[in-house]
Amino acid sequence: MPHAHDIVIAGAGLAGAMLAAELGKAGHRVRLFERRLDPRRADAESGRSINLAISVRGLHALRAAGVEEAVLAEAIRMPGRMVHVQGEEIFSSYSRDPERAINSVSRSGLNRMLVEAAAATPGVEIVFEARCVDADLADHDRPAAIFEHADGRRERVEADLVVGTDGAFSAVRAAMQRTSRFDFSQDYLAAGYKELTIPPADDDTGPHGRFRVDPNALHVWPHGGSMMIALPNIDGSFTCTLFWPFEGEHSFSTLDAADDATVVEFFDRHYGDAVPHMPTLVEDWRRNPTSPLVTIRCRPWHRGRAVLLGDAAHAIVPFYGQGANASFEDVEGLVTALASNDDLDAAITAYEADRIDNANAIADLALDQFIDMRDRSGSRTQRLAKKGSQFLGAVVPFWWTPLYDMVSFTRIPYATALAKSRRQANALRMIAAIGIPILVILFVLVYTTIALSGS
Ligand SMILES: Cc1cc2nc3c(=O)[nH]c(=O)nc-3n(C[C@H](O)[C@H](O)[C@H](O)COP(=O)(O)OP(=O)(O)OC[C@H]3O[C@@H](n4cnc5c(N)ncnc54)[C@H](O)[C@@H]3O)c2cc1C
Repeated sequence: MPHAHDIVIAGAGLAGAMLAAELGKAGHRVRLFERRLDPRRADAESGRSINLAISVRGLHALRAAGVEEAVLAEAIRMPGRMVHVQGEEIFSSYSRDPERAINSVSRSGLNRMLVEAAAATPGVEIVFEARCVDADLADHDRPAAIFEHADGRRERVEADLVVGTDGAFSAVRAAMQRTSRFDFSQDYLAAGYKELTIPPADDDTGPHGRFRVDPNALHVWPHGGSMMIALPNIDGSFTCTLFWPFEGEHSFSTLDAADDATVVEFFDRHYGDAVPHMPTLVEDWRRNPTSPLVTIRCRPWHRGRAVLLGDAAHAIVPFYGQGANASFEDVEGLVTALASNDDLDAAITAYEADRIDNANAIADLALDQFIDMRDRSGSRTQRLAKKGSQFLGAVVPFWWTPLYDMVSFTRIPYATALAKSRRQANALRMIAAIGIPILVILFVLVYTTIALSGS
């Protein structure tokens, strides 16, 4: 086995907790620091039930971490989208294969399971309520992270390897940004998001039992330029997310200053079939924050022996449901690189080379998917195009794989999936460009021949 290292991880979110468990299992000494309370404590719950779509990539990593079964036991399968258009519900499956589904999973439940897995792994020590405030990257071989504890005490922790899994606004990355030739970009969407709730039904006598709408679907209310989605929770509720522009007619600013009656009237007009299921609409609207949506890219992902992983390296917009899935793939990438390279620098280089283009590809795909869900998911043409793509995937699978299948139901690297889908689309365009004129010419020839023979 390659060398056992002394590793410090900043941030015990989804990626950090999984990474700690995996590195501990591989024999490394791991110290994991988290700014929040221990999620296993009863008082750590925020009360709001927020969920994530986890698909094949995430499940693969969860299996390796030994928690896949427990996660799936509390997940709800979503084999397709239920699009709500003018009161009508239209279901379209994500894949032609009915076995393929994405899974709605509680984010806090998942985090708790991963922290439990890390805490149960020999060699892993977890410190909560310790905020990373900076990193000292001056010594290539011995980086350090600086933490501030709840009592205000500051601690400098050196290690062979420091990993920043402290999310989109990473303190470890901020330290890297102060070094020379570090590329960084941060792009906010004009839209933000706010979470609302569809609570469980009062009894289970409805067509979906304790769920007020079909639980086995990701619900979408598209609305040209804005949309609402809803994912099911196992308690019978749905977490709805509004993705609206900050400014404009159908925007957060329009309703921010409005009175309660105007809020309800607005939702009635635009999301009429959802409103009867949202008795806490006004309360949720007033209580829940509006948050921005950002894409963050950087290069490189390391400075000496300090590296970034998960949202700290690549925050993406949530429309493909791949941020956590991609972060879990990063974990697998770093763990594999450390297992196959005795030299730490070689391992870091291999990890980065494996992941960075894939992270950029899923960032691009996620931005495209916003337009697709928001502006096109209600259109018949788009549904036909998706069916056509699934049909091609079934009849000529050696030539065509639908993009959604590649991203959500395989572990084909994101960059390869994106390149393949572009090649497929180009080939189809070429076939159409050559085939359609040929068909027209044939038709004209046949028609003329018939017309001449009849005259
Ligand atoms: C609205 C929305 C919906 C989403 N839906 C999906 C989905 O359906 N599917 C999917 O795969 N992904 C989804 N994502 C993305 C997903 O949530 C993230 O990609 C994922 O959580 C990244 O994991 P992470 O561990 O890198 O970062 P985080 O989950 O953000 O964890 C970072 C951790 O670091 C801690 N931390 C932060 N700063 C510090 C500090 N200075 N010191 C110490 N600790 C610190 C935080 O408290 C946190 O515990 C969604 C994101 C959003 C915003």
